[in-house]
Amino acid sequence: MATSFVDKARITIKAGNGGNGAVAFHREKYVAAGGPDGGDGGKGGDIVFVVDDNMSTLMDFRYKRKYVAGTGADGQGKRCSGKDGESLYIRVPRGTLVRDTETGGIMHDMSDGKPFIAARGGKGGWGNKHFATPTRQVPRFAKPGLPGEAHDITLELKLLADVGLVGFPNVGKSTLLSVVSKAHPKIANYHFTTLFPNLGVVYVDEGRSFVMADIPGIIEGASKGAGLGHDFLRHIERCRLLIHLVDVSGSEGRDPVEDFDAINAELREYSAELAGRRQIVAANKCDLCGGSRDNIERLKAHVEALGYKFIEMSAATHHGTRELVKMAAEQLRELPPVIHFEADYVPPEPVIGTAEDLTIEKCDDVWVVEGGWLQRLMSSVNFSDNESMMYFDRVLRDNGVYKRMEEMGVRDGDTVSIYNLEFEYRD
Ligand code: GDP
Ligand code: MG
Repeated sequence: MATSFVDKARITIKAGNGGNGAVAFHREKYVAAGGPDGGDGGKGGDIVFVVDDNMSTLMDFRYKRKYVAGTGADGQGKRCSGKDGESLYIRVPRGTLVRDTETGGIMHDMSDGKPFIAARGGKGGWGNKHFATPTRQVPRFAKPGLPGEAHDITLELKLLADVGLVGFPNVGKSTLLSVVSKAHPKIANYHFTTLFPNLGVVYVDEGRSFVMADIPGIIEGASKGAGLGHDFLRHIERCRLLIHLVDVSGSEGRDPVEDFDAINAELREYSAELAGRRQIVAANKCDLCGGSRDNIERLKAHVEALGYKFIEMSAATHHGTRELVKMAAEQLRELPPVIHFEADYVPPEPVIGTAEDLTIEKCDDVWVVEGGWLQRLMSSVNFSDNESMMYFDRVLRDNGVYKRMEEMGVRDGDTVSIYNLEFEYRD
């Protein structure tokens, strides 16, 4: 068994590069020179995150940290396009946040079960078949593929549950979950039994159910990182309702009112919003109270004065557990849906260099411009959008690309060819 619950992981992802276009010419017996027939390069594979409901931790990402999708194959003669690179599907537990490591920005919340393309494969380069014109019948050039996107990613699991169980270790949280759902959490009479949050589906009645999460015990100082609790508080952030379990049996010399206040202080310390989340206070282990109702009544008076709903129960004898489930279901009906995190990641502007970083060549009366930053820029500009085109044109001018071409003798009306883009030069 693993010794800790893995709910954060850092990985790198790299989508496939596009394949290169081919330079080829049609050849036939008895035909002296055929036309250009070089095919296009294939598209690089994407990196796609998908939800796998059989996963409950990010453990797998401890052992494998690099994820690379397939490269597009190069184009070939006879107009054959290269095969597209294979996309890579990375499976994660439901509720995982995909973050950009550098900025911490949320790229996607994997809670709706929809696949998310985190890095797009590069487009394939065009083969020379695209570049034949009436005045240029033998284009001896083709285009290289564009690079696939790469990212440093941080995965963070934030469980999805309607109800979160909170309370000190040993108060009976795991027992309650096992009684009201089909989950089988570990139950034992010592502190820190729960190392992994457990999720269980609780059936209320025909067609009605909710998800309950058993979070490892919060202990005092958890919000400051003491014990195990701290890492787990984030797993109740999304819960719509908290069931706060308190042991009222007075075992271990504990006082239920003090325990209740201590846990709430921890929640407040972690986040005011979490402390304000609706709570049902469940006085557990009533079966051990014997005839003494002192603890129960004191806790009841204390929490009701604070406006919380209160219920007596015993997870061991099932006394009150049905009532608790019904009460929770009624509260949930009034509460907003599970929190979904909006993406707030803003991709950085592509880094733009100067004309000196590029190669500019005159090839068959066509000005072919290529190079690292230009290639990256090409991947991010949408060439069917006029505004993007104007931006692209301005970048070329502002960074001295046109100036250098002028020095090399470009003339009005010459063709400029940049990856899969061709246009006429106008000064
Ligand atoms: P957790 O740490 O809050 O998850 O607590 P557990 O569910 O693991 O329970 C701790 C111990 O208390 C176990 O030995 C349980 O059998 C026991 N326990 C839980 N609920 C009750 C209860 O209502 N009555 C009695 N007598 N024992 C209980
Ligand atoms: Mg437990």
